[in-house]
Amino acid sequence: MNAPLNPNLRSIRLHQEILSGGKLRDVFHQSLSTTHAQLLKIFQSKKSVAALDLVDSLRDFQVDINSQSPERQNRECGAGCSACCFTVAVDVTAIEAIACAEYLSSYVCSEEVAIIKQRLEKLTQRRRSMTAKQRKETKLRCGLLDDQGMCQIYPVRPLICAGVFSLDQDACNDAAEAVGKEEKFIPLDRPAKVGTMGISAALQQVLVKSKLDGNLYELNSAVLCALETDNAMQRFLHGEDIFRDAICTDAHSYPRKKKRAKLRRISPARIKNNERSA
Ligand code: SF4
Ligand code: SF4
Repeated sequence: MNAPLNPNLRSIRLHQEILSGGKLRDVFHQSLSTTHAQLLKIFQSKKSVAALDLVDSLRDFQVDINSQSPERQNRECGAGCSACCFTVAVDVTAIEAIACAEYLSSYVCSEEVAIIKQRLEKLTQRRRSMTAKQRKETKLRCGLLDDQGMCQIYPVRPLICAGVFSLDQDACNDAAEAVGKEEKFIPLDRPAKVGTMGISAALQQVLVKSKLDGNLYELNSAVLCALETDNAMQRFLHGEDIFRDAICTDAHSYPRKKKRAKLRRISPARIKNNERSA
């Protein structure tokens, strides 16, 4: 499954290392610039882009980058290994969430999709009832994992799920047990993860450049939104805010930025002043 167990701290540390230079920085920039150029071509040359095709292209870039990692021989990830799918959250772009929903609608029977939807609804309600701190510390089983421990959207799983490889399966199991209590070290294939971060950054940048929503959303809530929206990709490409009910994990682009700006305009000081003058 290859998803991150405690993505927040780990990603911050990797960001710091990328900024400080060296080989990881080169991997990140190479991945970012190559993917950025190719995605721009795709977005500019086609009026309507299919989410599943786009994710196929992203996967091709990712496989290419991942295969260049000097650590690739030491990975311990394998089919049915799913400790990393019991995690705090997986972040995705809108395109990735729409592709997951399209895959479910096209390749999974409607009875199963109804069961998955119920799981996604419960998880989203639960996360909504938590504080941001609780969300970062509570381990939840991904709603897209089946009872046999298999990912139900494996061919179109998010970039982060397909780009994080552990070099020690026991360390993953220990870390999964310790979520919320302590942070355990998991040796990762870092060049592969950094390459994936470059691809995700390129996708976010190209979306924003194309005046589309480039925010990151919590996976389960975002797939639920996409499943509940008819013609999700077309409506997304026309700028409709179809992810307004998803849990936003990184607000930096339209339309979340616009909403935050509106919220900022009503500052606590202004509310106090209004109360005094009322
Ligand atoms: S080894 Fe770790 S990261 Fe890899 S699939 Fe298993 S639990 Fe996930
Ligand atoms: S999308 Fe699939 S691989 Fe990713 S966390 Fe969920 S079940 Fe695991």
